[in-house]
Amino acid sequence: MFNYIETLLLNLLFLVVFILFIPHIIETNVKNLSCQLKKGIQLISVIIAMISCMLFPFHIGDEIILDLRTVAIMVGGLYLGRKASVTLVVIFLIIRLYLGEFGIGFYASAIASLIILSVIFLIRNIFDRASKHRRILIACSFSFFICTFVLVIRFLLGHLHVSDYKVIITFFLVHLISTFFIVYFSEMLQESSYTNMQVIKAEKLEVVSHLASSISHEVRNPLTVVKGILQMLYKNEWDEEKRNQFIEISLQEIDRANDIIGNYLTFAKSVHEEHIIVNLEQELQRSINVITPMANMNCVDIHTMIEPIRMKGDPQLLQQCFLNITKNCIEAMPNGGNLFIHTEEMVDGVVIEIKDTGEGMSDEQLNRLGEPFFTTKGREGTGLGMMAVIKIIKLMKGKLDVTSKKNEGTLFRIYFPHP
Ligand code: ADP
Ligand code: MG
Repeated sequence: MFNYIETLLLNLLFLVVFILFIPHIIETNVKNLSCQLKKGIQLISVIIAMISCMLFPFHIGDEIILDLRTVAIMVGGLYLGRKASVTLVVIFLIIRLYLGEFGIGFYASAIASLIILSVIFLIRNIFDRASKHRRILIACSFSFFICTFVLVIRFLLGHLHVSDYKVIITFFLVHLISTFFIVYFSEMLQESSYTNMQVIKAEKLEVVSHLASSISHEVRNPLTVVKGILQMLYKNEWDEEKRNQFIEISLQEIDRANDIIGNYLTFAKSVHEEHIIVNLEQELQRSINVITPMANMNCVDIHTMIEPIRMKGDPQLLQQCFLNITKNCIEAMPNGGNLFIHTEEMVDGVVIEIKDTGEGMSDEQLNRLGEPFFTTKGREGTGLGMMAVIKIIKLMKGKLDVTSKKNEGTLFRIYFPHP
């Protein structure tokens, strides 16, 4: 009775590998792929899943030969859209002709696949807009409908009788469980890549709003200087040379304010991942420029030893990673201190060390670092900064090592491999 289990599992394995894993691995590891190319690769992957299933069918009962091709066509069509489903059905019919004879069985398969295609055309938009749970429900109902349809055809053709209820139940169970499994895990994988990006974006907004007060404080200083000079110029008390000197100072101060705002705005731009060759020195310097007003406000001196090293990564995400760490360091030194930033090029990668002389962390705090919502800052903290740091470093295939001693300070050691 259960001699088909092995082949059934093999069919499931094809679906898991070609519909879930390969598209997911490409999505997470290959950057800068256009949307169309990604869809093309996903379609080829689904086609391979479908053909592999067709090459390894299994028998349930005496008459019914079964494989999970319909699951591949349904799921592929629902996720990849109408054009992809037409391609899938056409390729399915060609392979079906090649593998079997051109008879009543082929007509039955052709009718079933046309029904699948029509349903995909009807429900694709609803599926696209649906939530995760509704998508699972839609896909399973679709599967149930197609199974019923295929079984009715088999009844009409005389392949199946009411006494074959075990076969009928198995047929339904195999399809429904496989569809549920594939759609559920596909949604889970999509959700996890989506939440990664969302957490990073949310934390960025938080950092942007925190930094705003120190930035505006820093911009006010040059403005006050310029205002004072303008008031004095208005009184016309100076000779030509002195006036020119003060105008020169005003222009420098305005430039400084402009630079501060410019740095801040570059950082505040929205996140979209793109991995390119970046100059580490430049990205670190940009982050330092943004964090300097906050360091000044907290009486923290920044000491740097940065080399112009080239590495592969996303400049925006790198800056965010450095900013989240340095911001934590400055916050750990409320009564002032020193922040050291040091880079070193190794044979196989780059090491960036960021060290503070702040309050440090206990072993328990250190263990919880990076845990979502873990913060010791009460309402001031979000507990998402280090989580975003860890995610960004992981995205760039790097490693983070943190050592800390209570009341002495903390050292963040980041390693990025060379491309
Ligand atoms: P938040 O800064 O919003 O609290 P983070 O995820 O950035 O959230 O940091 C989590 C916690 O880790 C902080 O609340 C703090 O207790 C600890 N921490 C992080 N960096 C340092 C540091 N440089 N020195 C001391 N403690 C730190
Ligand atoms: Mg933080």
